[in-house]
Amino acid sequence: MTKGNINVSVENIFPLIKKFLYSDHEIFLRELISNATDATLKLKHLTTIGEAKTEYGNPVIEVKIDRENKTLTISDQGIGMTGEEVEKYINQVAFSGAEEFLEKYKDSAKDSGIIGHFGLGFYSAFMVAEKVEILTKSYKDAPAVRWVCDGSPQYTLEETTDKENRGTEIILHIAEDSTEFLEESRIRELLLKYNKFMPVPIKFGTKTETLPLPEDAAEDAKAETVEVDNIINNPTPAWTKAPSELTEDDYKSFYHELYPMQFEEPLFNIHLNVDYPFNLTGILYFPKLSNSLNIEKDKIQLYQNQVFVTDEVKGIVPDFLMLLRGVIDSPDIPLNVSRSYLQADGAVKKISSYITKKVADKMASLINENRDDYEQKWNDIKVVIEYGMISEDKFFEKSDKFALYPTTDGKYYLWNELEEKLKPTQTDKDGKLVLLYATNADEQHGYVQSAQDKGYEVLLLDSPIAPHLMQKLETSKDNISFARVDADHINNLIKKEDAAISKLNDEEKESLKKKIEEAVNDTKFTVQVEDLDSSEAPLLITQPEFMRRMKDMQATGGGGMFGMGGFPEMYNLVVNSNSEFAGDILNNDNVDEKNTKIKYALDLAKLSQNLLKGKDLTDFINRSYQQLSK
Ligand code: ADP
Repeated sequence: MTKGNINVSVENIFPLIKKFLYSDHEIFLRELISNATDATLKLKHLTTIGEAKTEYGNPVIEVKIDRENKTLTISDQGIGMTGEEVEKYINQVAFSGAEEFLEKYKDSAKDSGIIGHFGLGFYSAFMVAEKVEILTKSYKDAPAVRWVCDGSPQYTLEETTDKENRGTEIILHIAEDSTEFLEESRIRELLLKYNKFMPVPIKFGTKTETLPLPEDAAEDAKAETVEVDNIINNPTPAWTKAPSELTEDDYKSFYHELYPMQFEEPLFNIHLNVDYPFNLTGILYFPKLSNSLNIEKDKIQLYQNQVFVTDEVKGIVPDFLMLLRGVIDSPDIPLNVSRSYLQADGAVKKISSYITKKVADKMASLINENRDDYEQKWNDIKVVIEYGMISEDKFFEKSDKFALYPTTDGKYYLWNELEEKLKPTQTDKDGKLVLLYATNADEQHGYVQSAQDKGYEVLLLDSPIAPHLMQKLETSKDNISFARVDADHINNLIKKEDAAISKLNDEEKESLKKKIEEAVNDTKFTVQVEDLDSSEAPLLITQPEFMRRMKDMQATGGGGMFGMGGFPEMYNLVVNSNSEFAGDILNNDNVDEKNTKIKYALDLAKLSQNLLKGKDLTDFINRSYQQLSK
């Protein structure tokens, strides 16, 4: 038997390990299972190249709890270690690795997050165990050995006959303060969190299974139940396979495997697969989002060689894609580093822009493959796409190929189609293309109707970030502008050359304006007399585009020129000089009757703009009933 001191310069490294990232103690299990997996895959490699003269078989990793002896054992059937190798890898190399790691990241550990996810390796066992035993037998012809260390720098190493089969058993004598790791439910939870998709089968406990009855079984035959190994993981998750091997159903069932509590089907998926200039595989899913910007759980999961690392992918995945779900697996994402470093890391930036490009390409191919289907899904994906267009220039540049602009009557245009269709009708006298839109087709119905009567198309831009998108489009595209249908009366929204004909002269208009102002008597409204078609409404409430859009933008963040809540409520009250109503008011000398009529008309205009509420609405209804019974 050998006794020795672990190669250590920091005398008290164990207490340090114990304290290290207190909340992350649970990662010890992932570290040990990673080691077991590595050992198994190494053996697989050695047997395939003929280096190891042994049967690879169907090795499993087993996790076992012994509550009586307060131990947790992780065993593998991998390459194992000889005594010399334990000396070298555990006593010297591994330890100096842990030591170096702690030295380097002691400070940045506070900037928790991704740090602490990897690197402690074998010694993380001491976060939860007061004593650790390694029982190991190499695939080489060498005796098995037992290594024991109780958390002080002293260890013992001796040959043993206790282990006959190839592989390694790590026996953790769980410390008093870590007994949670002797609970079956806790271990199961950890295995499912970190090891659900690891490449070697992991056995934890047993389960009973009912055997199928043979075909010729007697009628009263009872089905037999047997105990079978309970394999926790799926060693070959969908993202490790080639897209050509997978059907649409495979992608869907993997989605549910990933998010067991998610019952809705994803809309579509994007299979990621690069090996140069970095390695990355994964599958991203577009979930049904509609207009909600709120997804807290079921986030994108980050793996490294099938080991779960984190679902905090900020920085690696561009912000707008955080709304997606799925997995990303890359050995090239540096994990031992703090968040701020991660964002500045060149490799990470490349990964982020690769993902952005890939999503853009996928969108373009989806719309080409099946435009109908894509249009139907647009409402659920638009928030992601629009957010991407606002926040990532590279994505915006490609978006003409896949960003749709729907109309209130259910047509969908790509940008170029839209321009081509609208140019002949909606170009104003200065050569600017005016894109009319509604944010709510029902609430703005009257205005939409007026625009459509003129032969104009009205877009439906109803996502919360649409105002930001319009701003972006107006600054990027030549000579276009957006105007909501109620931003002005229709002749003013798209100004044409032909002068409008007026039934009234200037003097009459001035007098009409005065009368209306007196009757309305509200500074919220700026009265403006306009020569509209006689068929148009006599009174119309409009809200200038700029103010309203700024207000909308402020509501979803950004664009706040006036500071929070600094927008005064201002409207224009457009009076149609060519309406019968205008002539009526002008020629009516009964002040009371005239004022009653104007108030009534104003109420109707307010109704049409959803502005008639509360007491005003009740009064209006009562007055209307009185009118009915007259
Ligand atoms: P790392 O895995 O990062 O190298 P560890 O401290 O986890 O660091 O392990 C140190 C070394 O010990 C490994 O590189 C490996 O050679 C050896 N080792 C650890 N666990 C096992 C195991 N289950 N089977 C065989 N070798 C192992």
